[in-house]
Amino acid sequence: MMRTVLLRLSRSKFMERQMKRRKFARRAIRKFMPGEEVEAAFRAAQKLGRRGLGVVLTELGENVATPEEAAAVARHYENTLDRLAALAVDGEISVKPTHLGLDLGVDVARNNLERLVRKASQLDNMVWVDMEDSSYVDRTLDLVRAARAIAPNVGVCLQAYLHRTPEDLASLRDPAVRVRLVKGAYREDPEQAIQKKKDVDQRFHELAVSMLRDRDYITHATPVFGTHDDRLIERIRESARQYGASPGQLEFHMLYGIGVELQEWLAAVGARVRVLISYGEHWYPWYMRRLAERPANLWFVVRKAFG
Ligand SMILES: Cc1cc2nc3c(=O)[nH]c(=O)nc-3n(C[C@H](O)[C@H](O)[C@H](O)COP(=O)(O)OP(=O)(O)OC[C@H]3O[C@@H](n4cnc5c(N)ncnc54)[C@H](O)[C@@H]3O)c2cc1C
Repeated sequence: MMRTVLLRLSRSKFMERQMKRRKFARRAIRKFMPGEEVEAAFRAAQKLGRRGLGVVLTELGENVATPEEAAAVARHYENTLDRLAALAVDGEISVKPTHLGLDLGVDVARNNLERLVRKASQLDNMVWVDMEDSSYVDRTLDLVRAARAIAPNVGVCLQAYLHRTPEDLASLRDPAVRVRLVKGAYREDPEQAIQKKKDVDQRFHELAVSMLRDRDYITHATPVFGTHDDRLIERIRESARQYGASPGQLEFHMLYGIGVELQEWLAAVGARVRVLISYGEHWYPWYMRRLAERPANLWFVVRKAFG
C-alpha cells in the first residue's frame, strides 16, 4: 500500500517542486548520494576504491524533452568516462534510455548510446543500460542489441519481477550480452509483473541459476546481481559454487549507502563488488523509488524534517 502511494508520488511534479525546495529533503538524500555534483561522486568513488570496491556512476535524470538535452547527457557521460580514466578510478557508467532521449525517438537514444559504447570501448570500460518501466523494455533491448553489434562493452539491466524476463534473458545469450539482474523498482500491473515479494525473490534466484549454469555464457558475459538481499546473495553464491563458477565469474552491485557492511564483507571474501553512485539535481523520482523500496526510510526523512 505505502509502496504504491510512494511510487504514484514519484510521478507528481507538484511534490517534486515541494521536495526540492525543502532543506531537510536535501539532507535526507545524502544517505543515498554523496552530493549533486559529479565531483562528489568522483571523491566517493576514490574512497570506495581504497576499500576494494569498484563503482558505477549514474547521473540522475529521465524523460528529457529535446534532442539537445539528450546529446548534452551523452557528452556528460563521455567526459565522465575520460575523468574516470584520468583519475585511475575503477568505475563504469550506467545510463537511463529516456535520459539519452528514448521518448524522442529510438534513433536519438541509439546514436547517443552508440557514442558512449564506442568511447567506453576505446577506454576499455563499460556502459550499463538501466531498465525503466515495462513500456520501455522492447525499445531498450533493441537499443542494447544495436550497441552490442558495435562492441561487447555494453550491458543491460533486467528486472526479475517482469513475467517476460526469462525470455528476454534467453534472447541475450547469442551474442552474449552482460546482464545486471535486479528485482525491479517500478509500479507494474499483475499482467506485467509478479506482485508478491517472495515470488520475485524466487524468480530472481531461478534467473541467476540459469545464467550461472551456462558456462559458455558466463565465460563471455560476467553476470551482475544488483541486490542488497543478503539471503538471496548467499543462495546465489552457493549456486555459483555448485555450478563451478569462480568468484571472478560473477559480480554484485549495490546502491551507495545501502548494505554498506555487506558490500565490504563481500569484497573481503574475494567477491567482485561495485557500488552504484548517483548524483545530479534530478533526484526526486529516483529518491521516491528508494523510499518505496523500504518505507521505513520515511522515518529517516521525518527525523531530518524535525531536526
Ligand atoms: C546496482 C543496482 C542497479 C539497479 N538498477 C535498476 C534498474 O535499472 N531498474 C530497476 O527497476 N531497478 C533497479 N534497481 C533497484 C532494484 O530493482 C530494487 O528495487 C532494489 O535493489 C531493492 O531491492 P533488493 O534487491 O535490495 O531487495 P529487497 O528485498 O527490497 O531489500 C533487501 C534488503 O536491502 C535493504 N534495502 C533495500 N532497498 C533499500 C532502501 N531503499 N533503503 C534502505 N535499505 C534498503 C534492506 O535491508 C532490505 O531488507 C537497481 C538496484 C541496484 C542495487
